Amino acid sequence: MSEYFTSLDSGNKKVAWCTSVGPAELLRSFGFEVYFPENHGALLGATRTAMDFIPEAIKCGYSGHICSYTTADIGSYLKKQSPLQKHYGMEGVPKPDIIAYNTNQCREVEDWFTFYADEFNCPIVGIQPPRYLDEVTQDEVDLVVKQMKKMIPVCEQVSGRKFNIDAFKETVKLSKEATLLWQKVLKTSISENAPISFFDGTIHMGPIVVLRGTQIAKDYYTILLAELEENVKNNVGFIPKTKTRIFWEGMPIWGKLRMMSDLFANNDSAVVASTYCSSWVFDKFDENDPWNSTARAYTEIFINRSDKAKEKILAEWFKEYKIDGIVYHDTKTCFNNSNAKFGMPQRLQTITGIPFLIIEGDLCDLRFFSEEQSITKIETFLEQLEDIKV
Ligand code: SF4
Repeated sequence: MSEYFTSLDSGNKKVAWCTSVGPAELLRSFGFEVYFPENHGALLGATRTAMDFIPEAIKCGYSGHICSYTTADIGSYLKKQSPLQKHYGMEGVPKPDIIAYNTNQCREVEDWFTFYADEFNCPIVGIQPPRYLDEVTQDEVDLVVKQMKKMIPVCEQVSGRKFNIDAFKETVKLSKEATLLWQKVLKTSISENAPISFFDGTIHMGPIVVLRGTQIAKDYYTILLAELEENVKNNVGFIPKTKTRIFWEGMPIWGKLRMMSDLFANNDSAVVASTYCSSWVFDKFDENDPWNSTARAYTEIFINRSDKAKEKILAEWFKEYKIDGIVYHDTKTCFNNSNAKFGMPQRLQTITGIPFLIIEGDLCDLRFFSEEQSITKIETFLEQLEDIKV
């Protein structure tokens, strides 16, 4: 990650900003280094600096109730402060030569990225796929392919390179290989003694978010997978004894990863899977059909689906990972990635019989998270699950 950030700062290559589930492969095929503001948002959350910056964005008219990645990131820019300075010796976030977004996850990214396009007087390109789909048909894929192809002239002009289909195929191939390895990494936790937790996953997912389409991401997950498979073979789990297996639904609470990880571990509870970490599994990528396959993969993502489709996916995951209980993180500033607001937990319990708990919190803004209340709720829930299992 250090090398990745340093390369962004070197000035050797042009930089494209991209949403986390945006067309990174296409951008890389033009030789851009790709920077992800959401990753910076997560960094602001994990370093617990977000609350220093959010008020700056509020002063500019951004509500404190919208995406705290957006408000923390804009505030950090306005204050000219970033953890990248301290941790990687960078001047700040790298200046964009082009900005690309995909509203497959939310409309917020469009507002957020447009702010920067105005600030830097930078070309901006966007993909706006149909949302909340039960099924993704070829009609939607065709529409997204058209939108992606519209990016080509802008990318050519900014990069000074002609579009090269072979370069695009190569980045899609590398991305596919890395994402399939990442999927295997996550699936090692299907085993009885899960070797990797959701909390570990939020750290190990770094390369699949910011380096997909590169050899480095592929190498990283090759090494990680080998280690985890060895642990599965030797029956070594990330906690010594597992009484309950939990599914985490929703965003991480970035500033409380350690506390949450310890809380579950101390109660012999293994958080073995999540929707969040699985969001970077794009198993439809196919280098032999790069346009259709990337358009489909990025449109079919979990967050872009109807509740009906999400419930089907979740029920399968609960079964696959042998889940005893589900914790829904009702994220205050991201309703897009919160599935506890429209009756889904209750419907899924009816279908699967698996108990659930809803905790309130936020990805970055810890003013919306009550630690004491959450600990009590989680410990009580885990005790109830244990009682059910006896
Ligand atoms: S999905 Fe949620 S957290 Fe992510 S950018 Fe959109 S509003 Fe923010």
